[in-house]
Amino acid sequence: MGENRSDSTQETLEHIRQVNKYLNNCAVQLIVRAVDHDNSKLLSPEKQGFDRFNYRLKDVTYGSEEYKGLLKELKPVLDHHYSRNDHHPEHFKLWRCPLCKSIFNEKDVLINNSVQEKPKVCPECSKSLGIGVCECWLSPYIGLKGMTLINLLEMLMDWKAATERHNNGDIFKSIEINQKRFNYSDELKQIFINTIKEIFEI
Ligand SMILES: [Zn+2]
Repeated sequence: MGENRSDSTQETLEHIRQVNKYLNNCAVQLIVRAVDHDNSKLLSPEKQGFDRFNYRLKDVTYGSEEYKGLLKELKPVLDHHYSRNDHHPEHFKLWRCPLCKSIFNEKDVLINNSVQEKPKVCPECSKSLGIGVCECWLSPYIGLKGMTLINLLEMLMDWKAATERHNNGDIFKSIEINQKRFNYSDELKQIFINTIKEIFEI
């Protein structure tokens, strides 16, 4: 009678069940994203915008000057799209300190209300320098810091699908080009490459 204290099976099974539950939660999040992906493109004002631009996007090379020009024209539509879709790094408003180079989420920055343009201020550097010192006023920054692993997976699958719409699309080239656009590390770049290779068996 009584439990056998040297038998690990019960504890291991509990752990397995727990991780099973957590991974299922992750899977549910992915399924919700699979269902909802880019739905906002089917509604006004994005629908009208993409009606006008989609056929032109097909013929340009990803990352080229022509592509960047098209993005500029599309900006109002894209801004709307980014604001409603967190699989885009642009969804998250980030700020960078020119002094300590740290990246901050919008909710973590300080605002200097005593100056007319109400600059955002580095919460770290301003501790020693003071909120009024313009060297620690933040600039807008585009990066992945606000995202989650779930967001990142949706983003990566979005890139993969996007390359298939371009005549000369190549997901590995996109991962390379986007490293400069979104400032991610070599380590994360390699994780993106590993993930694509594993999922698409290439
Ligand atoms: Zn700083």
